[in-house]
Amino acid sequence: MNTIAFIGLGNMGSPMVKNLLKAGCSVRVFDINEAAAKALSPLGAVVTHSLEDVVKGVDTVITMLPAGEHVRAVYLGDHHGGVGLLNMVSVNTFLIDSSTIDPDSARLVANEAHNKELEFVDAPVSGGVTGAEAGTLTFIVGGSNIGFQQAQQVLQHVGKNIFHAGQAGDGQMAKICNNLMLGIQMSGACEALSLGIDNGLDPKVLSDIMLQSSGRNWALELYNPCPGVMPNVPASNQYQPGFMSKLMLKDLGLGADAALKSQSAIPMGSLARNLYAFHNARGNEALDFSSIFKMYSKK
Ligand code: NAD
Repeated sequence: MNTIAFIGLGNMGSPMVKNLLKAGCSVRVFDINEAAAKALSPLGAVVTHSLEDVVKGVDTVITMLPAGEHVRAVYLGDHHGGVGLLNMVSVNTFLIDSSTIDPDSARLVANEAHNKELEFVDAPVSGGVTGAEAGTLTFIVGGSNIGFQQAQQVLQHVGKNIFHAGQAGDGQMAKICNNLMLGIQMSGACEALSLGIDNGLDPKVLSDIMLQSSGRNWALELYNPCPGVMPNVPASNQYQPGFMSKLMLKDLGLGADAALKSQSAIPMGSLARNLYAFHNARGNEALDFSSIFKMYSKK
């Protein structure tokens, strides 16, 4: 049985912990938001109050944090004297970061971990909160072959498809490419649906037509951004996340950073990043990313 320390219990982390507990893993949890940790106690998670406490006696650590700065602070320590967990875990502890962050931060943490003879993989996810709840997430792993095999043993309890993208940081790079596509697709789906609505079409009928036509995509299939078209998606629940718009802006920014380094052209991705920047500046950053539909809607 795995004994896991899980750090970062937000929209994604909490349902992942629930599935680990269901699979019979022993899970210790920590979040700077104590309420998020306490909510998992009745399900059998051991609530802890510090990084030092959460890693006691575990064989695996999983982190699910917002961005690179949080991951670097948790693993390596921060500028305010905080010690990183690389200096707290016992030998042979296996480390998995499932946050979506910049590949350089993932490589930095992997190098520091290897210097201490610890195995670390980056394993960002796709599939959203629904996938996290259903245990059907896709994991995109970057790291050694041994790290990938070890990761599969744990991640099989929370995911359905587990890919080995390449070496350290490559999982993040693949995830960044995926979310560049997602940001473009979501903006495109909102644009097409709004054009139809403005010209008298029923968005449900239009969605059904596009789903059986060449405009079919993930947003239309599983995450329709127009309120009332699909039950159980953020659009039909006042755009409660889900996947916050601020996190989509972060991911499109990671795509822009990567494109600068490789001197790649990403005109569509840049436009999508700017749309999310405008949208977030209007007070929408904590809403689900499908709320960008509001930018197009005349209502
Ligand atoms: P979230 O903001 O809901 O959760 C992040 C959690 O981390 C919060 O509970 C926060 O309190 C905690 N945290 C922050 N700093 C911490 C620290 N130093 N120590 C302990 N806990 C700390 O975010 P989320 O939606 O769960 O996303 C997490 C990651 O997964 C992000 O990188 C995101 O881009 C990625 N992701 C999200 C989705 C989605 O649909 N929400 C899908 C795929 C990937």
